[in-house]
Amino acid sequence: MKENKFICPICNSSDMTLRHEVNFVYSYKIDIDEPGLKNSEVFLSYEYDKRENKYSREYIECNRCGTQYPNTFLNGILGN
Ligand SMILES: [Zn+2]
Repeated sequence: MKENKFICPICNSSDMTLRHEVNFVYSYKIDIDEPGLKNSEVFLSYEYDKRENKYSREYIECNRCGTQYPNTFLNGILGN
């Protein structure tokens, strides 16, 4: 069995999670009687008029001690 190389430098746990966190802002223009120019029958949350990606980041988190590391932590480990 291949050795697990994902070891937390703080607590030596190999129980790690990669997280991709994204923050979007969806805008719906208000017209006569419905939210959004694209919503004529019912309000559909995905029928937005504008979507802006405000923020995103990837990080590795240790599930034992909670320490977070930048995703560059995996450089040289995941690559072939
Ligand atoms: Zn840890």
